[in-house]
Amino acid sequence: MVRCPCCGYSLSVLSSKYVLDYKYWCCICRKAHLQKKVDAVEFRELNRRLRLEDRERINKDYRRVYRNENVDKFRENQKKYYSLNKNKVIESREKYRLKNLERMREYYTKNKEIFRQRQKEWCDKNRQKVRDRNNKWWSEHKHQIGLKRRKAYWKKNTLESYLQRKQAL
Ligand SMILES: [Zn+2]
Repeated sequence: MVRCPCCGYSLSVLSSKYVLDYKYWCCICRKAHLQKKVDAVEFRELNRRLRLEDRERINKDYRRVYRNENVDKFRENQKKYYSLNKNKVIESREKYRLKNLERMREYYTKNKEIFRQRQKEWCDKNRQKVRDRNNKWWSEHKHQIGLKRRKAYWKKNTLESYLQRKQAL
């Protein structure tokens, strides 16, 4: 889309039988624009954007190459930066972690069915593994579970009956 060099509004193209060089019309400036001028502005803008993109890409590539070639130096610099800005680094890491967690949660709620399906398939494939894991967990938590059950049983039968008897008296 071609834009007006004065106000930035998108230009409409005039039919060529009225004009030769004034090809574009801006309905906000109420004025026809020279094609040469408009094209020059467009071209300059495009050039500027491409140059910026190029610079960004080259910088990125250069940084990567530098990091791969000077691993020790890079680590050293990183350590230095960390020791100077410890709180800042920790804060930004925490921020990133929370953001990532939120994003993962959102993704999971959106694609819940797919995750469940995948999990089910994996479990079907690795039945023995799942069984071993469950057995291991059970043997590790047997004592706690027994305690919990006994406590619940006691609460339900002994304590409640005791309270009832107390109320009745
Ligand atoms: Zn305009």
